[in-house]
Order: sequence, then structure tokens, then C-alpha cells
Amino acid sequence: MTHFSSQTQTAIEFAADLFRSARSAVILTGAGLSTSSGIPDFRSEGTGLWSRDEPLDVASLSTFRTSPDKFFQWFRPLAGQIFNAQPNPAHLALVELEKAGCIHSIITQNIDALHQKAGSKNVIEMHGTLRTLTCSQCYHKVEASSYLGAFVERGEIPHCKGCGSILKPDVILFGEQLPQMAWLQAQRDARQCDLMMVAGSSLEVLPVAGLPMQALDRGAHLIIVNNSPTYLNVRADVTILENVADIIPAIAEKAFHG
Ligand SMILES: [Zn+2]
Repeated sequence: MTHFSSQTQTAIEFAADLFRSARSAVILTGAGLSTSSGIPDFRSEGTGLWSRDEPLDVASLSTFRTSPDKFFQWFRPLAGQIFNAQPNPAHLALVELEKAGCIHSIITQNIDALHQKAGSKNVIEMHGTLRTLTCSQCYHKVEASSYLGAFVERGEIPHCKGCGSILKPDVILFGEQLPQMAWLQAQRDARQCDLMMVAGSSLEVLPVAGLPMQALDRGAHLIIVNNSPTYLNVRADVTILENVADIIPAIAEKAFHG
């Protein structure tokens, strides 16, 4: 049982009250949700991945098309961390909140599918997913699980069994459009919710970072749990500058048991 400062405890109780009275709550999650599962935020500075290679360059659609070897070499350690990662207490608490009818949907910027691995049902993946791969020539889609082991362990680049071309992970690379259906669903949910909780996102990557503003503009309450401030902290009803893996289980516990 984690002990919080009285200020944090008050904020947790207020957040739990907001969940209890919400009609439709939407969660927006980012890289901070998965750092406790051992997955680094490859978009932020200071991580090993960033310092070795500029993600804007190597994790881009143009690099994938022109030098797939370079892309896959960069991607391999990240894929390994995702392949071996397990959900942490923040993911599990969100499953409980969804089961109890307290959450309408989870909009995530993460590609690790840990929400689904934990058991969440209604997950909108804004930056794609590593669960599937698509052939760059014939567009045949396959489950990633049967290819990832060989790629992570031996560096075998996945190829299409039909036409032999390279399979692209269904993650959104720099220079690639967001998945249209996911973006429409996320906007609709942001506009229709009466409570949004931002969890583990610094709200720096557009256009997803604009979704809480759409919720606020329609009168929704806003909770932000992130270990660094965001541009919307001044407008949030509750802000908690702590690790989501400590705070979200505490909010869920309070929401259920008062
Ligand atoms: Zn193919």
C-alpha cells in the first residue's frame, strides 16, 4: 500500500468522486503508462533509443521504404521490450474500471497493446499497433506474434508468405497518416464524454494532444495524472504529478469503496 501526501490523497479522492458521478468517462493514455512495464518513451529525449538514432529519421515511412534494414535494426530493441512486456497496475486498474462500467473507452498513443493484454475491451489505438503486420506489396495482414520471436531473437526481418515482400508493423511511423477510423472514434468519444482522464501522456504529440481540449470545450471534467506537467494542467479539475502505476489503482480503489 503506497502512502501519499495529504495533498495527493485529496486529489485521488476528488478524482474518484468524478469517476463515480461520470456518465461517460474516456481515458487518454501515453508512453508514461508503459514505462513501469519496461517500455521506454522512444519519442522523448534522453532515452537510449533517441540518443543512438534520431527517431524522426529512422522511424519514418521514408526510411522504411528506402532502407528497411536500417528501420528494423532500430526497431528491434523496442520490439523486444514490447514483446516481453507485461501490463502493470495502471493497466489492470483501468480494466477494473471498465468492467465496473466506469469507462467508455481508452484512447491510447501506445503501440504495445498492453491495454488489451491486461483485458481492456474498448481500446482506440491512435498510433497503430504491433499486434499485426501488413505486407508492403499485397497488403495481406498477419498476426505479429508468429513473426516477432524470430525477429527479436535472431533479427529475422518478417516477410510475406504469399509474395515474399517485407511485412510492415502496423505502427504509425513519422510521415504516416493517423488511422482514419481511430481518429474519428477518438474525436467522437472526446466530444461526447463528461469526464476525461489523461494518464501518462505529456500531451506533446499532435493531433491526439488536442483531444482533451475538445472534451473541455464541451464541458467535460478533466483529470491529469502524469509525472511531468502538460499544457492543460491549468485547466484540469484534478492534476496529480506522480507515477500512474501508483495513482490509478488508488483512484479505482477509492471509486469502488469510497
Ligand atoms: Zn505480400
